[in-house]
Amino acid sequence: MALSTPTPSPAQASAASVAEPVHWVRVALDVPLNGLFDYCSATHIPPGTRVIVPFGRRKLVGVVVATPAAPAVDAKLIKPVDEILDDTPPLPADWLRLASFAAQYYQRPLGEVMLPALPAGLRKVSAYQGKRSEGGPVKRMDKRAKPAGKPAQADTPPLLNSEQTAAAQAIAGQQGHKTILLHGVTGSGKTEVYLHAAQAVLAQGRQVLLMVPEINLTPQLEQSLRVRLAGVGVGESLAVMHSGLSDGERLRAWMRAQRGEARVLLGTRLSIFAPLPDLGLIIVDEEHDASYKQQDGLRYSARDLAVWRARDRNIPVVLGSATPSLESWNHAETGHYLRYTLAQRAKAVALPAIKLVDTRRLALEQGFSPQLIKALGERLEAGQQSLIFLNRRGYAPVLNCTSCGWVSQCPRCTAYTVLHRAGGRRNILQCHHCGFQARVPHACPDCGDQDLKPMGRGTQRVEEHLAELFPDARIARIDADSTRLKGSAAALFAKVHAGEVDLLVGTQMVAKGHDFANLGLVGVLNADAMLFAQDFRAPERLFAQLMQVAGRAGRHVKGGEVIIQTDYPEQSVYQALLRHDYQGFAQYGLAERQAVGLPPYAYQALLTAEARELATALGFLAEARQLPDQHAQDYPTASALTLYDPVPLRVVRVANIERAQLLVESDNRPALQAFLTTWSAALADVAKAFRVRWNLEVDPLEI
Ligand code: ADP
Ligand code: ZN
Ligand code: ZN
Repeated sequence: MALSTPTPSPAQASAASVAEPVHWVRVALDVPLNGLFDYCSATHIPPGTRVIVPFGRRKLVGVVVATPAAPAVDAKLIKPVDEILDDTPPLPADWLRLASFAAQYYQRPLGEVMLPALPAGLRKVSAYQGKRSEGGPVKRMDKRAKPAGKPAQADTPPLLNSEQTAAAQAIAGQQGHKTILLHGVTGSGKTEVYLHAAQAVLAQGRQVLLMVPEINLTPQLEQSLRVRLAGVGVGESLAVMHSGLSDGERLRAWMRAQRGEARVLLGTRLSIFAPLPDLGLIIVDEEHDASYKQQDGLRYSARDLAVWRARDRNIPVVLGSATPSLESWNHAETGHYLRYTLAQRAKAVALPAIKLVDTRRLALEQGFSPQLIKALGERLEAGQQSLIFLNRRGYAPVLNCTSCGWVSQCPRCTAYTVLHRAGGRRNILQCHHCGFQARVPHACPDCGDQDLKPMGRGTQRVEEHLAELFPDARIARIDADSTRLKGSAAALFAKVHAGEVDLLVGTQMVAKGHDFANLGLVGVLNADAMLFAQDFRAPERLFAQLMQVAGRAGRHVKGGEVIIQTDYPEQSVYQALLRHDYQGFAQYGLAERQAVGLPPYAYQALLTAEARELATALGFLAEARQLPDQHAQDYPTASALTLYDPVPLRVVRVANIERAQLLVESDNRPALQAFLTTWSAALADVAKAFRVRWNLEVDPLEI
C-alpha cells in the first residue's frame, strides 16, 4: 500500500524532536487517499486504538493499525498524535484482520472501511473535543445506563424433528471452521435449528452473531431469542444492530458486543463489522438475499464476509435459505460446504399448492383474474388472511395522454415518474430514481387534452381496487411508502399478526421471512416484469422471491394456496415453482451458467463511471480498458481476464448524471484480484483527467 503523509505546516514540522523516546504509529483515516499515515507518540499505542490526529488543517479520528520501528517518511515531517481515545478497549486483532481483508478484496482504502464501520460517536472528533463532549461518548452513554427491561418468560422449545436434530447437532458439534448450508423449505423450522445450535455455543461461553437481511425481520426473531435466552439463563444478553437505530442505540449495541455483555448479536448486514471477542458461531439467515450486499461506499457482501470471518476465527458459519444463491449451492455440490436439508414443513401442514393462471386469454378486472377474485372471496368467508404481492409501489407506474401519447417522464432521469395518490392536490408524480416530485397536471402538457390516464398498477391502486371488490374486508398495505415513519412497519405487521387485517397488499417487504399464523392465500400480480430483465441473475431472483412469498401461505392453516398470474406459464422458472423444485431449478440454472461461463464459474468486477455527458463516462471507461495494453508489464495477469466494451447503464441518466459501466471477468479469482489492485490505483489519475466519478464493485450482483 502506498504511504503518504499530510503536508505539515512549518510550525509543526519539528514535532518529532520531543525529549521522550518516540513511538511511531501507522494510522488509517477516512480520507479518499490510498494509504496509511504515520504519526508519533510519547507512549506506546497498541494497534486497534482510536486516536485523534491532525490532518492538514483538520483533526480526524483514525485507527492505529501498526507500530512500525521507523516511519515511512522523513521523521522530521511527522506530527504527534493529538489524543489517544482509550475509553474503549482497542479494536480486537481479528476485527483489524477483517477490515484489512475487506479493504483489499473490495479495493478500498483501509480507512474508508474501518471508520465508517464504527458507530458515529466513536469516529467523530466533536464527540471528544469541544463544548459538549465531557468525558467522551462512551462515558456519557454509561452514565445514562438504561434500566433493564422486564426479562422475558422462558418457553418450552418444540421437540426438533429428525432433520432439524441432525442439522443442529452437526452445527453445534463442529470443531473448527466449516460452512454449513442449511437448505430448508419455507416453514421447515430453520429458526429452531439456529436457536438450538446457538444455545450449544452459548453454553460453551461463546458469542453468536445471527444476521437477517431486513430490519423488519428483527422484531419477531428478537422476541423468540429473548424467550429462548431466558430459558438458558443468559437473560438480557441480546443486542440488536441495524441501520434504524439512533446513534446512541448503535453505540450501546456496539459496546455491549465488544465488552462481551451481549452474548447474541442479532443484526442486518452492518453487524458483520461488530467487534465480538468471543465469537463462536455466525448464522446468516436467508443467505441468498440481495440485502446482504451494500450498494454504496464499500460494496461488500456481508454473507461473503461472514464466511471469511468464520474461517479466520476457525468457527462454523451457517448459511440458511429455502432458495440458496447458486454460488452457495455450487459450493455445496462441489463439497466445499456441508449441506443439511429440511425437506418437510415443521408443523403438520403441507407446502401450499401453487397454481399458475394463464392471463393471455383472460379478461382481467383491474389486473385481477376471475380465479384470484374467487379464491380471495373464499378465504374471506373462511376467516383467513390473504396476501397480494406486487413488487411495485405507488398508484400507477406512468401517467399517459390518450390523445397524443404523452407519458410522464422525469426531467432529470431516463425514467417515468410514478403516480402516487394522496387525494386531490396531494397527488404527485414521483421519480423512483432521483426523488423528483411534480404536481399531477390537469391537462396534457403537450396537447392540452384533459384525458390523462394512469397506466399499469402499483400497490396503491391494487389496494383501492380490493376495497371496491371486498367492501367489508379490512385491508392493509405494506410498502416503502406506507412505512416511512419510524415504527410504522412494526405497527402494521403487528396488526396483521393480531388478525386485524383480512387482505394484505405488499411489495417484497412482506415476502421475506414473516411467520403469519392465519394466512391462507397468496396472489402474485405482474411477476412477468422480472422474467425478461437484462440481468443474468433475474430468473434466480424471481424464483427466490416467488418461493419466499409463496412460503407465507398456509404455514399454520391447512390448504395453503398460491396463485401466480402470468402470460408465460411455460417458462422454466414457473414450471419449477409448480413442483416446489429448487434443486431442479438450481441444477438447470448452474448448467446454463457453466455453458456460458458466468458466475459461479467466473468472477466479475464492474467499473461504473458517472459524468455530466455520457461521452465523458464512456471515454473514461475506454481509457481504463486500454491501460493494461499500454502498461502490459504492470498487468502480468491481464491475459487471464476479459474486459468487455463499455456500455451505458439501462437507466442511463439519473439526476442529470449519465452513467456507463465496464465489466471485467475471469475464471481465475487471484488473477482478477491482482489485476484490480493495480488497475484501481491507476484509475484515480485517469478519472481526474476525465473529471468523472467512478466506483469499482467486486462480485457485483446486478449488471
Ligand atoms: P423457516 O424459517 O424454515 O421458514 P420457521 O423457523 O419460521 O421456518 O418455522 C415455521 C414454524 O414452525 C414456526 O412457527 C415454528 O415455531 C414452528 N416449528 C419449528 N420447528 C418445530 C418443531 N420441531 N415442532 C413444531 N413446530 C415447529
Ligand atoms: Zn396529449
Ligand atoms: Zn428522476
